[in-house]
Amino acid sequence: MSLYLYNGVIHIHSTYSDGALSIPEIAASAAALKLDYMLMTDHNTLKPKFDGLEGYHSSVLVGIGMEINDPADTNHYLAFDIDEDFSELLPPGEYVRRVKEQGGFGFIAHPDENRSHLDAYPPYPWNLWDNQAFDGIEIWNQMSEWMEGLTSKNKFRRVLHPRRSILGPKQVTLQRWDELNLKRKVVGLGGVDAHGVNYKLWGLFRLIIFRYKVVFRTIRTHLLTLNKLHPENPANYKQDITTLYEALRHGRSFFSNHYLGDASAFRFYAVSADSEFQMGDTVPFRPDLRFIIKNTGQAVTRLLHNGQIIANFSAPEISYPVPSPGVYRVEVLREAQPWIFSNHIRIEDVR
Ligand SMILES: [Zn+2]
Ligand SMILES: [Zn+2]
Repeated sequence: MSLYLYNGVIHIHSTYSDGALSIPEIAASAAALKLDYMLMTDHNTLKPKFDGLEGYHSSVLVGIGMEINDPADTNHYLAFDIDEDFSELLPPGEYVRRVKEQGGFGFIAHPDENRSHLDAYPPYPWNLWDNQAFDGIEIWNQMSEWMEGLTSKNKFRRVLHPRRSILGPKQVTLQRWDELNLKRKVVGLGGVDAHGVNYKLWGLFRLIIFRYKVVFRTIRTHLLTLNKLHPENPANYKQDITTLYEALRHGRSFFSNHYLGDASAFRFYAVSADSEFQMGDTVPFRPDLRFIIKNTGQAVTRLLHNGQIIANFSAPEISYPVPSPGVYRVEVLREAQPWIFSNHIRIEDVR
């Protein structure tokens, strides 16, 4: 099966909400880093899409969704592939429903946020787990992790080295993700939550610690698409956006911390004598099924079954017989730090 790999960044704010730069300026940062795409999510507005900013900005494909919140400013939801925004703040169940009704899809943003160090930046958790109409979860959020780990002791170091302080998604979120997948497919992504703005951390001392071009070298989401993108033909951008959204929605994707290295060589799929199955796929169990995991080496690869680690590998290419039905995903560590997270492959019991 020939698939195409595209590397990009998701969850970005511009001057349309509380970000520091315009979309063309942010896209220039992404192009300088040779990213293939970026997905904008300004707060509660699709105006940049209505203003015609979706499409190619030089070589970078810019998709425009939005980050929706409720009147209490909790339950943040990253919505994509929608054409209508909601002028009023709605209850969360209502916007999750409306996104779906429009044919769009959405990811719960920073679901388990919990921080107390900065009064000016309270946590924005998700409180609506009974509602199962969402499509996915932002498993790793660069901004949220940075803020959460901040203490009065380490803030100088974290300000000086914002990328070095990224340690991995929250265990509670990973566990939640695995548990949800036992019941139905819930796709994961990694977000940067980039604003490029000054943060007032203490007193009058303001710092720009999250320039777009710095955070774009942290958490990236890698999409495996069925069709090739055509930046040489920008007039056809809508078709290319559809191609990207199909992969994101399906979960044919993985996310990584680019600070630890380029994850482009990573692959996780299942094969049988006559077919190949990708992340996001549901596969009937059969005894000749094997998982193939590829990597660049210098890493430790873990295979998880229903949320439990069942095998560790250090070889760059692994072929491993699928032991039983269940949901499987892969985590890769480098220098003992979380580096790459795959989406799940679901093996169904057909007996
Ligand atoms: Zn948010
Ligand atoms: Zn955000």
